[in-house]
Amino acid sequence: MKVIRAKSAGFCWGVERAIKIAENYAEKNSGKVLTDGPLIHNSQMMEKLEKSGVREVGDYTSEKELQLSEEDKKSSVLVVRAHGISPERRKYLKNLGMEFRDATCPDVGVIAGRIKAGARKGKNTVVFGDPKHPEVIGLLGYAGGRGYVVQNEEDIEALPEMEGGVAMVSQSTMFVHEFQRLSDLLREKYPEAEIYDTICGATKERQTDLRKLVQQGAEAIIVIGGHHSANTRKLAKLAMEHDRPTYHIETAEQINPQIMSQYQTVGVTAGASTPDFIIDSVCKTLRGIEPVPAEA
Ligand code: SF4
Repeated sequence: MKVIRAKSAGFCWGVERAIKIAENYAEKNSGKVLTDGPLIHNSQMMEKLEKSGVREVGDYTSEKELQLSEEDKKSSVLVVRAHGISPERRKYLKNLGMEFRDATCPDVGVIAGRIKAGARKGKNTVVFGDPKHPEVIGLLGYAGGRGYVVQNEEDIEALPEMEGGVAMVSQSTMFVHEFQRLSDLLREKYPEAEIYDTICGATKERQTDLRKLVQQGAEAIIVIGGHHSANTRKLAKLAMEHDRPTYHIETAEQINPQIMSQYQTVGVTAGASTPDFIIDSVCKTLRGIEPVPAEA
């Protein structure tokens, strides 16, 4: 079978940077690195990281208090994930008295800076994103109590009258076309609204590459990544919107050779937290499947 692998499949630069920071500290610090919530949303990679001494503490949304022993506090370094955290969480973590290292993706830092600058001028912020996602929870912390999260038209309709002006940003991993649609609607409601497209370059590239897979003749799309990874789930949704049978898998073992053998050409993409070793093994397995010619 012919396999077309999207150029952007796998780690984005923000995730790669966070992993390097954690691994470097694990090496230097004799394997004692704690992360505030899962460093990345990929259980296979988390298992690998655990073996090199990177351990997750805390919770998915980085909101609960950390249960750490005095020994942990003295001998470990605490690393913040690529998603970033709220200023309140940062203060809390820094007050734990541990060595602290911030691996927030600089692209998320730019969004936080934009919100902070608006809040200082008394502006309200509308964030297009998932209110339960840790990145959005962290970003809202910069809005000075004047932040709103929207996911659809109904959420925009429900926004109250706002004094002081409105600025709209996006969670870094949203769909470009949906942001455009919702920001147009927001402008209709608040004609003076400032719109900032803060979807990161890595996300845009991944969405463009998916279209290219279809243009290059992929009859079906394989999306690799954690089932709990928001950006991987979005990629799978986008693939389905292109009217291609889409298979969201976590590892090569989940490929069904009988089903895949009906295709001559398959496109492969992967979420921002999917390691190369998994993408390589999926591509290898697919290449080994002999397509069965369709019956006349
Ligand atoms: S998806 Fe974008 S914003 Fe998020 S970590 Fe990767 S590069 Fe940074």
